[in-house]
Amino acid sequence: MKRIIISLLTLCLLTACGEAQPHLDEIQQRGELRVLSRYSLASYYVKADTLAGFEYELAQRFADYLGVKLKVIVPDNLTSMLRMIEEGQADLAAAGLTITEQRKNRIRFGPVYHEVTQQLVYKRGSSKPKDITDIPSGQLEVVAESSHVEQLESLKEEIPELDWRENNELDNSGLLELVQLELIDYTVVDSNEMSANQGLFPELRVAFDISEPQPLGWAMPLADDDSLYLEVLNFFQDMEASGELDRLIEKYYGHIRRFDYVDTRAIHRRIQTHLPLYRDMLQQAAEQYGFDWYMLAAIAYQESHWNPLAVSSTGVKGLMMLTRATAKEMGVTDREDAEQSIFAGAAYLASIKERLPEGIPKSDRIWFALAAYNIGLGHLEDARVITQSQGKDPNRWNDVRDHLPLLSKQKWFSQTRHGYARGSEPVRYVQNIKRYLDILLHHEDTAVPVTPAPTSEPALPAAL
Ligand code: GLU
Repeated sequence: MKRIIISLLTLCLLTACGEAQPHLDEIQQRGELRVLSRYSLASYYVKADTLAGFEYELAQRFADYLGVKLKVIVPDNLTSMLRMIEEGQADLAAAGLTITEQRKNRIRFGPVYHEVTQQLVYKRGSSKPKDITDIPSGQLEVVAESSHVEQLESLKEEIPELDWRENNELDNSGLLELVQLELIDYTVVDSNEMSANQGLFPELRVAFDISEPQPLGWAMPLADDDSLYLEVLNFFQDMEASGELDRLIEKYYGHIRRFDYVDTRAIHRRIQTHLPLYRDMLQQAAEQYGFDWYMLAAIAYQESHWNPLAVSSTGVKGLMMLTRATAKEMGVTDREDAEQSIFAGAAYLASIKERLPEGIPKSDRIWFALAAYNIGLGHLEDARVITQSQGKDPNRWNDVRDHLPLLSKQKWFSQTRHGYARGSEPVRYVQNIKRYLDILLHHEDTAVPVTPAPTSEPALPAAL
């Protein structure tokens, strides 16, 4: 008898007596999606009276997708955000949260939409730690319950003397401010946050990464039924298929999207070992041809990793990877001679920049010139024509960049003057150079410009 009652009770709980309404229906009925976020340039912020931020825009699109209004709630700190999600006090958290092993026991994560590394930050002019073992006790402060704490805990297994303080009041931009004010020595923030905040804290520098790339995802209550989770999956699938997610990532993170940890370590190493050998030449060539020397250094790194003897299977050669024809045109007698290569590369790039249509504004000219350096002016022109035919601006790099890949599609290249081209290559090329430029600009050993920048090329990546 007892068992029957229990079964009836269970049945009753699961069905008519009180089966919880699916979460998704509940959201739809209330007409509002409640999203937790945090104030940060990478998540949610107010810009000239309008709301912005990567997470905000993404959440707004999801609310539109569900046909409900968006309500953003900003908890006091990360600890409360995680607790509120765990307890189902909001529908989801969209706040650049790292998907970590420990968190998976408390929270359900949606699909990965971005990857970041954790970076140790210090102030320029103060002592730069060599590595994580080089941090004296009491000098490192991180956000309590953050993925950074989790990472430090796992590093501590190998380095028992590692020690840090946890701050439960401030978020990571608050901690960056403390480093800037020299109230603390070091903090750890995610690479996306660091890039977004660099404009606000120009004196802060990244010493090194303390983690491999880690995934970010939206967080939902673990105890939830599947209805919201499945809708989040569908939404991200749609966002990916339509290219909308890429566009949003590009808008907020631009060139930092394809983060390559190994590659980044390699350039940091070569900044010490190779760059000093060519720095003077790069500076002189930059001055002569009206470039920022960081720009030439970034191009040379993209071309040859600063190896004057580099050679590719297609026969291009040297520090600036000149073709035989270009070398001849520029009067180069020995392509393996670093100085000749740098000066010829700079001269060639300057001549391309000169030949670009006048309508292209100063701020975008360098990206167009680099794309043409990679794919040729003819194909670039074809891409500009396609861009215009699609109602976009042929004089804006971001618009042309989005149309360049069409040059490899029959439907499009058949209508062009110069025909087929691997249009995504110049896009990648420019993107890589932007990223190298970023690294060079933020690297302590190259951070102080020795020559005044002779052109108005942007000295820092555009702030959001
Ligand atoms: N990705 C970090 C985390 O999930 C961001 C939080 C923070 O730094 O405040 O913990």
